[in-house]
Amino acid sequence: MKQPDIIVVGSGFSGAVMAERLASQSNKRVLILEQRAHIGGNCYDYKNADGILIHQYGPHLFHTNKQHVWEYLSQFTQWHPYEHEVLSSVEGKLVPLPFNLNTLDALYPQEQANEISKLLISHFGEGAKVPILELKQSEEHLLRELSALVYDKFFVNYTVKQWGCKPEDISPEVTARVPVVISRDNRYFNDPYQAIPAQGYAALFERMLAHENIEVQLNCDATKRIALDSASGNILFDGAVFHGKLVFTGMLDALFGYIHGDLPYRSLRFDYEHVNVPFYQPATTVNYPNHEAYTRITEFKHILPVETPNTVIVKEYPQQFDRFDDNCNIPYYPVFNEANITAHGAYIACTQGFKQLVVLGRLADYKYYNMDDAVNNALACYQKLASLDD
Ligand code: UDP
Repeated sequence: MKQPDIIVVGSGFSGAVMAERLASQSNKRVLILEQRAHIGGNCYDYKNADGILIHQYGPHLFHTNKQHVWEYLSQFTQWHPYEHEVLSSVEGKLVPLPFNLNTLDALYPQEQANEISKLLISHFGEGAKVPILELKQSEEHLLRELSALVYDKFFVNYTVKQWGCKPEDISPEVTARVPVVISRDNRYFNDPYQAIPAQGYAALFERMLAHENIEVQLNCDATKRIALDSASGNILFDGAVFHGKLVFTGMLDALFGYIHGDLPYRSLRFDYEHVNVPFYQPATTVNYPNHEAYTRITEFKHILPVETPNTVIVKEYPQQFDRFDDNCNIPYYPVFNEANITAHGAYIACTQGFKQLVVLGRLADYKYYNMDDAVNNALACYQKLASLDD
């Protein structure tokens, strides 16, 4: 490729959508620099020898209520309808999660469950979703008791494992992702669009990026090839001044050489096991909030069914992120709390001096985006760039 018009760093959803739109709608020459040996970021998947589709970086279940996101992605994939259900291992039973009226029935004697269920409906209304930290504020005695049980058995230990701190010490939006639901709907998500790319995510990304205006360079550490000169506001690429836009979807602290310190992230270790039984567990994901060191076990055959006498499961072990340690140097989650969000703000301030620099995505924005958020934000970001070009 001649000098590209745009450099995109990262080929997860944020980078891939930007590259695809800029190449196909604005006829820009796009160079993608991808650190890993494959495209697709943490959505990357592959089929094992038995034809089981494995999500290499843990389960990715697509769901959205945004019709335009659904329609956009549908250009690049067919879908396998799939509604995610999760069980939680509590008091020796596997019970539905999010905690809902069925979970109540599973854990309480029937009469008591009925009484609490009535109370929940009269307080919050049928179908309401109540974050656990909100339920804990309840003044009603029975609801306080319930909230203590849900907090103690479902949330506190899981959150300590996952984040290294209690639910109160992380942004409330984190535990609000899995509210107590006043209904009998056992689905983990209730968006109108829920499905898995029929050929997998990797195939979807390949189709998105299969455009003559797009070149992808894999195994490329962009921070070694890009330099930001704050005195001039210039972006240097391979030592020469680059005049196009730089779309950066990686870690901002890395981009700016950690001048304001390291931003905290949480990492994960995935232990995959091949098991010689047709199915290992009754649902795709079983959460283990309390006694085990892992947070959850996911069995991939439940997502895209395939007839095999054996199965593959993955156990997720949360761990501290450390960029110097190959065993835990993947930043899966930004750690939201006020101090870290402020620290991220210092890096956002650094970006202001560079007119050609566009930052977006879960890592660069330091936000807990779902896949559809990443796609939605990238589509909006492209629209904004395109309108400036007009
Ligand atoms: N959570 C919990 N217990 C559970 C499931 C979730 O305490 O059984 C809390 C925990 O803090 C977790 C957050 O809710 O990090 C969000 O859960 P979600 O399943 O959305 O996490 P993700 O799939 O994004 O890792």
